Amino acid sequence: MDVLNATLLEHGISLSTMEATFHELNSLKFLEPYWQAMLDNYSEFVIVSVFTFILHEVLYFGLWIPYLVLDYIPYFAKYKIQRNKTNNWPDTSRCLKALLFNHVFIQLPMILCSDYGLRLLGFTAAMPLPKATTIAWQCLVSYALEDFYFYWIHRFLHWKKIYKYVHKVHHEYAAPFGITAEYAHPIETMFLGIGTFLGPLFLTRHLLTLWVWLAVRLYETVDDHCGYELPFSLTSFIPFWAGPVHHDFHHEKFDGNYASVFTIWDWVFGTDEAFRIAQAEKREQGVSQWSDFFDKVFGGKKKAKVA
Ligand SMILES: [Zn+2]
Ligand SMILES: [Zn+2]
Repeated sequence: MDVLNATLLEHGISLSTMEATFHELNSLKFLEPYWQAMLDNYSEFVIVSVFTFILHEVLYFGLWIPYLVLDYIPYFAKYKIQRNKTNNWPDTSRCLKALLFNHVFIQLPMILCSDYGLRLLGFTAAMPLPKATTIAWQCLVSYALEDFYFYWIHRFLHWKKIYKYVHKVHHEYAAPFGITAEYAHPIETMFLGIGTFLGPLFLTRHLLTLWVWLAVRLYETVDDHCGYELPFSLTSFIPFWAGPVHHDFHHEKFDGNYASVFTIWDWVFGTDEAFRIAQAEKREQGVSQWSDFFDKVFGGKKKAKVA
């Protein structure tokens, strides 16, 4: 350790300074004055409900805008997953209007009412703030919980007897684009919303963690529906990350690939066989690079089940 320290010092790097900087950043002290100003100037009701709603709107539409821009730059057409289907403004505008209606008349009242429920559960915006590392691991576990719950509820919503009553709405767009993520029947929004809340319910009582989790969860779902296989997609860096290619296939075929975040459960329960065969073919043709841990270790082509 001393040798390492000495070598780093020679290059002007001090381990103890690095450690102190890490602890400083991890404590989120730099955020405290702004958070305190928010607590001093607004009631807890406004912070928990109104600010959460505004944050949701800004994130949801803000995360989609870069993908909307891509639709109008011809260079990016080669990254479109379903290349034969181009996004058009009438479809986008119809989806946008339905979403704005849902957000204002369904989600906003739900969020306003949730203030009471969150307080009852002990959620607070009070100081001290949680550590960044705490927020990070809690978001990771929330992803895992949400993914398993989502897989089964989503698979259940595809059950032929009930599909047409609820989940059919979300599948109106066979070639999804960012904001189709929340284009769904209110019953679906409610049931799948429970999965999103599972992590916070078990792991945290601080509003900041809830907001960060909302941000990463929204990023994941808007990205899943973006319709593009971009070279810097998280699938390239995280071995089990499903990403847009995985979920796009679900929209195209209306079957299989039920999970939202990771590829694990579809692989374990065998609901991704058609997808993996199709992807292996696309890779051979050079039109897709998508491949995950299971492809690399067990091979991309699995035998399709004989019906
Ligand atoms: Zn579905
Ligand atoms: Zn979808």
